Amino acid sequence: MSALEIAAAVRAGERTARAVVEEHLSLIGVREPELHAFNLVTAEQALAAADAVDARVAAGEDPGPLAGVPIALKDNLCTTAIPTTCSSKILAGWKPPYDATVVERLAAAGAISLGKTNLDEFAMGSSTEHSAFGPSKNPHDITKVPGGSSGGSAVAVAAGFAPLALGSDTGGSIRQPAALCGVVGVKPTYGRVSRYGLVAFASSLDQIGPFAATVADAAALYEVIAGYDPRDSTSIPEALPPVRHRLDDGVAGLRVGLVTELCQAEGIAPDVVARVAAAAEALAAAGAKVEEVSVPAVIYGLSAYYLIAPAEASSNLARYDGVRYGLRVDAPTTAEMYDRTRTEGFGPEVLRRIMLGTYALSAGYYDAYYGKAQKVRTLIIRDFQAAYERFDVLISPTSPTTAFALGAKADPLAMYLNDICTIPSNLAGHPAMSVPFGVGADGLPVGVQVMANALDEVTMFQVAATLEGAMA
Ligand code: GLN
Repeated sequence: MSALEIAAAVRAGERTARAVVEEHLSLIGVREPELHAFNLVTAEQALAAADAVDARVAAGEDPGPLAGVPIALKDNLCTTAIPTTCSSKILAGWKPPYDATVVERLAAAGAISLGKTNLDEFAMGSSTEHSAFGPSKNPHDITKVPGGSSGGSAVAVAAGFAPLALGSDTGGSIRQPAALCGVVGVKPTYGRVSRYGLVAFASSLDQIGPFAATVADAAALYEVIAGYDPRDSTSIPEALPPVRHRLDDGVAGLRVGLVTELCQAEGIAPDVVARVAAAAEALAAAGAKVEEVSVPAVIYGLSAYYLIAPAEASSNLARYDGVRYGLRVDAPTTAEMYDRTRTEGFGPEVLRRIMLGTYALSAGYYDAYYGKAQKVRTLIIRDFQAAYERFDVLISPTSPTTAFALGAKADPLAMYLNDICTIPSNLAGHPAMSVPFGVGADGLPVGVQVMANALDEVTMFQVAATLEGAMA
């Protein structure tokens, strides 16, 4: 059952939220041991929340648009009194004193959290192999990665553990695992969804967004979590245009640009490009005007991102000092305590990012690296602006390849190259989503990325719904 079907059945009193939750918990019981989607399953809390929803239905109250719908939360979203680990040893034992805004909104909408999902430590990675708690596995082939960093959330939806999940996307961490696991993943416009209670990685890029098995479910979740929040200073104050009632509007007359550079970039596999070409044809057949478009600066996105994101991370992660959060490794002096705590608490990829970022920001290198990267960011925004004068949406591959084998990308640069198609939209702050569109040569899922101009989620979802319909 889809999330929308569950909500309709629960609201109508045809199914209890308890029965829905029990069914999903039993699926988790079967496959979770081999897949490791979750860091923590909160079965008791979920059942109690389900009973509360059922009581509201029985009392004739409206339990909300996602009544009784199970959801899995990436373990970098703050949840009161439940550990939030970011899959890092450094947060061992930390329980946030508050809920993230998205967590509050989900509860108010009647959704039921089943627990916290695995991720690359502090959301740094593209395979979930950088988790301090071990990797998650791709449900389509457990020798393959699910992508990352929100790998656990993608696995949870793909394996049917929950019809919905939340992830965070700084450079592709929702869209890329969605593509590799064959589900829908959405990164909204920067500022659309409150970041309050999302553990910060790179604050100018981070955005929370939905995973779902269908475009309509993703849209329903998006409508619940999006919208102004005074507790996030970068939250967009404008009213939220609803997307769900526009999903069937089709694409007749829409101008769709197929981004040349993102189909030709290093490492983009021919079988993936073939699926994107098929998506372009499907949109043309549905009445869209499809053309190739050059967005030249996007090829520099990866280089700019791997300066800007680590620079912001090195600053954001300074707070884990052994004093205020989680782990402390005692030592004779405070400076040594900081040193030992951070050395033991952070994994190798996080340490690498902190060093990269500190270097990029250091006196004497700042202009050459961080400053230059910000200029490239501006160029990318300008090139996108030019493209969006001629096109309503842009499409490309989401990930260069289908899911790769666990352990295959031990070289950090090889791992970073996974983000080549997704990063440009983060740098520009634009919405982008991945929609499953068939399989590659190995039979594993391929995702097509649909990108849109800032604030134009409506058109993006419409195009994604058309692609989904073409595959049905
Ligand atoms: N894979 C990218 C990185 O490692 C993006 C991560 C993300 O979006 N959180 O930084």
